[in-house]
Amino acid sequence: MSDARTPLIAGNWKMNSMTASGAELAAAISAGASEVSAELLVCPPAILIAPVSAALSEGVALGAQDCHAAESGAHTGDISAEMLADSGCAYVIVGHSERRADHGETNEQVCAKAEAAHRAGIRAVICVGETESERDSGDTLVVISKQLSGSIPAAANAENTVVAYEPVWAIGTGRTPTNDEAQAVHAHIREALVASHGEAVSAGMRLLYGGSMKPDNALGLLAQRDIDGGLIGGASLKAADFLAIAASCP
Ligand code: PEP
Repeated sequence: MSDARTPLIAGNWKMNSMTASGAELAAAISAGASEVSAELLVCPPAILIAPVSAALSEGVALGAQDCHAAESGAHTGDISAEMLADSGCAYVIVGHSERRADHGETNEQVCAKAEAAHRAGIRAVICVGETESERDSGDTLVVISKQLSGSIPAAANAENTVVAYEPVWAIGTGRTPTNDEAQAVHAHIREALVASHGEAVSAGMRLLYGGSMKPDNALGLLAQRDIDGGLIGGASLKAADFLAIAASCP
């Protein structure tokens, strides 16, 4: 982590929580937010954005887990980035591997969603990551490069975009790459960003690690030079664990 980049600890609640439990979790995270220096972000399911927003303190940012690329129109069941901004969201996750897998989202669609976020004035957290078989066949960096070039809009900059590296095989499995392996992919992402978006954008953009980050492995991962925070799934559902991870930021 570099002093030039403010660490970001983001919680992806996925399809978990109800109104009361979501508000309770948001309030508990808010209560501990002033004790950590990292920026905190929670991304509840869309239907809980309003009650979570009401329970959050100003020190914790609100985000969503997906958006549609269009501003409005005949897209039953979808939510636009403008609607998210209107509901108080400052961030939206796009291209999570579960959406790429469950909904067949392509790099091109992910890029359009990130552009929609920028259009609406909110930050896109763009997810990339290799599957286990891609890692085993030595293709990790090639896969990541392809996802980056296809998913990150040309107009992305350090202010409007965060990249999350989430190895698919580490999500929800309790397995993680070693600290050195995670750093190597992050360094590769940073280099790819120099080539695609220039030195200044690359140096300022926050790169999160995601995949079974927990209080007991966060310190080592977050100490890596190119890891600027975490995208946390399971451990973001317990305020104490989420805050302990945030407290591990150097
Ligand atoms: C995620 O899905 O974004 C994630 C990182 O999940 P977990 O922390 O549970 O592996």
